[in-house]
Amino acid sequence: MTCGREDIKKWPVSKAVEDFLRKCEVHEDETLTQFCHDHSQLCCSACVGTIHSQCSKVTQISELTNSQPTGLEGMSVELETVLGEIKTLQISQKASIQSLQKTYKEHSAVMIEQMRGNLNTYIDECDNSSVGTSGGNEQYLKEEMCKSVLSIVNEFDNITTKELNEMKAEVISIKGSVTSSIHKCTSVHNDLSQFHEIVQKIGDHKQLCLIASIKCKHIIQQALTLLGKSGKAFNVQSNTKHNVRIPSDKDVCIMRGICVLPDGQVLIVDSKNQKVKLLNQQYQVVSHWDVNARPVDICLITPSEVAVAVNTSKIHEVQFITVNHGKLVPGRKFQLQHECRGIGHHQGDLFVTSGQELYKYSLNGKLICSLYQDRSANYTVYKCDVSPTGDRLYITSYYQLRTLARDGTLLATCTDPALGGPSGLHVTPAGQVLVCGDWPYTVQQVGWEGESKLATLATRRTREDGVRYPRSVCYSSTTSSIIVGQWLDDNIRVFRVE
Ligand SMILES: [Zn+2]
Ligand SMILES: [Zn+2]
Repeated sequence: MTCGREDIKKWPVSKAVEDFLRKCEVHEDETLTQFCHDHSQLCCSACVGTIHSQCSKVTQISELTNSQPTGLEGMSVELETVLGEIKTLQISQKASIQSLQKTYKEHSAVMIEQMRGNLNTYIDECDNSSVGTSGGNEQYLKEEMCKSVLSIVNEFDNITTKELNEMKAEVISIKGSVTSSIHKCTSVHNDLSQFHEIVQKIGDHKQLCLIASIKCKHIIQQALTLLGKSGKAFNVQSNTKHNVRIPSDKDVCIMRGICVLPDGQVLIVDSKNQKVKLLNQQYQVVSHWDVNARPVDICLITPSEVAVAVNTSKIHEVQFITVNHGKLVPGRKFQLQHECRGIGHHQGDLFVTSGQELYKYSLNGKLICSLYQDRSANYTVYKCDVSPTGDRLYITSYYQLRTLARDGTLLATCTDPALGGPSGLHVTPAGQVLVCGDWPYTVQQVGWEGESKLATLATRRTREDGVRYPRSVCYSSTTSSIIVGQWLDDNIRVFRVE
């Protein structure tokens, strides 16, 4: 049979493409011949004998092609869209690294300039006071000068150098995680490009079309997870409660903020008892730090450091805390010129809410800009969090969840009746948006677009399950659990999810 240029779809598929598509990714020497409906996965005979031995429905690929369309139509366009988004993400991640380094350099330059200023001021003072002094005092003056210069330099060493080192460690850690994410993007980008090319070449070969389309869907799903658009709904398997009250607590706990370290340790902000508590992987309090003011929210900066928002009538500040061998060690802090209610972090950018505004700060505490404001009521900008790629910001309003673009433009509002008074908010590493609130008591998962509810994870407490006045929520990848902190309750709720 001969095919002309116009019959490109009927051209035979090259052996290389066919071998590539049919190869099992787990068992290199095996060919994919079957499909497991339970896992929606292609299998070779070795897969069927091992990973899918207990699965209820495994069929031959040849049977499938007779009964259903291959689903390859439109795949090319979808691949192109996702390819473009991954490219954009890589560009923004590279920009993040540069801006982080710039922040650090600027901050150290400012600090050194400040010390130079202090020295100059002191020398000028000496110069003025030495005018009119009679001879014989020069030696004394020199000694005094040496002492004071030394004390200025020492202060720089003890305070500023420590802060700069702290910040340097953050920059290195964040840079490392961004770099590893860039590598993941590169690898997914390569896979997507490869399939984009192959999809054009398969032609009418039904089985190969089906295999390619299933493989494409898997890669696109991986890409969407990286893009924070996974959209996978959580399913609650079981729930437990854990008491986090400690002997020095004078009151019942109010847990306004929770965050989980990558190793599974949990940090809780107990605003009533004015403490930050560290829980081990079994949710037992192993350490705490007395804030001596009201801590209101917490966010992760690096795998071993968090930032805590502190707010009383007179104090508005962000306090950094390092977790070191099961102990909480306070680091630097910076003051805010406004109230603070919530805090979020993304690759060196800190987002702080005041109740009516959302502000962006750099790691050194420099206010970059105000991103959003709504002065129509008191708690229109309450808690905030950021999508994994940084291109969407979520804020809870007293009756809504709002989604903003990177520049603060309002993209979406969610006014689901089940989300009456959203108070706690958390975005998972795959971009799943968790919201908890009061009217009614509930923990919900909202789609990444921030428009509609995806799943109800917990509702009003009946006997032992459920929640009452949930105030904070966080997902732990290590334990596949959603942790919920409540108002006037000594227990955290832990929901195991799939
Ligand atoms: Zn296999
Ligand atoms: Zn299976």
